[in-house]
Amino acid sequence: MNLPRRILTGVITASALLAAAAVQAQGYPNRPIALVVPFAAGGPTDVVARMLAVPLGKSLGTTVVVENTLGAGGTIAANRVARATPDGYTIFIHHMGMATAPALYRKLPFDPLKDFEYIGQVVDVPMTLLARKDFPPNNLKELITYLRANREKVMLANAGLGAVSHLCGMLFQSTIGVDLTTVPYKGTGPAMTDLIGGQVDVLCDQTTQTVPIIKDNRVKVYGVTTTKRLAGLPNIPTLDEQGMKGFEVKVWHGLYAPKNTPKDALDKLNKALRDALNDPVIRQRMAELSSDIPPMDKITPEGLRTHLEAEIAKWGPVIRKAGVYAD
Ligand code: ASP
Repeated sequence: MNLPRRILTGVITASALLAAAAVQAQGYPNRPIALVVPFAAGGPTDVVARMLAVPLGKSLGTTVVVENTLGAGGTIAANRVARATPDGYTIFIHHMGMATAPALYRKLPFDPLKDFEYIGQVVDVPMTLLARKDFPPNNLKELITYLRANREKVMLANAGLGAVSHLCGMLFQSTIGVDLTTVPYKGTGPAMTDLIGGQVDVLCDQTTQTVPIIKDNRVKVYGVTTTKRLAGLPNIPTLDEQGMKGFEVKVWHGLYAPKNTPKDALDKLNKALRDALNDPVIRQRMAELSSDIPPMDKITPEGLRTHLEAEIAKWGPVIRKAGVYAD
């Protein structure tokens, strides 16, 4: 077939570009990838990250190295990733703190909707309201009475403003009308250590950390923050059924990369995320930790971005009404 020269040239150029892209795509990844976790090792977010790092790496054909960057309720890590080189070798797991930060931090150094690329949603994790083992109240009703009578003495632990333990604690306090002394940590990993050790009194934390601790009977449990009981913790009532109608905090997580990360890298990262969340070992472990993996067709960049936008719109008014600011 004799094609006119100009068409032939166009075909050759397009093929060359496609080949270059394919080579670039084949080239990625060719070294380890950093998975940034915004809270201390051992905490609920870190547990999810370290669980996923292996199957993510398997799917990508490289090593995924978890790096904990701490502080300011996850915003220091988010800012680090927002400014990282957009080459596909820095990715970021964060929870709904990505949506609450714009209302909590009036001078946020990054924009969750402008400074990131979106890989996909990861897992939804319920929370549990806990106390140290020897805390006097034995049920939610007794806890509320006790907190109202001892508000100056009780210490509520959390992982800093922007953490979900802070959000859960804030909603719980405003619901029962008390204002407790809060003790901030750089993650609920260290906070849990002090709760078990008796140095602090109360903590609201995610089941990806708390399920094994509850099953080992190392803390006191007053309820779960879902509207239905958890299959993995069937004997623990919800806060809702104990009278705190509509009290619900379920912690969604997203996987992100810096803005302008190349599309071929993002496509490979999204596939790796879906491969990891389809892994039967991961699905079994997440179920044991009472955590829900979203349907596969929801684990998309558009799905995460749309969800983040909606969550920013939802939590902004709640936080502003509570009058809580980090700066
Ligand atoms: N998810 C945080 C952590 O892993 C805790 C929090 O946000 O409350 O430490």
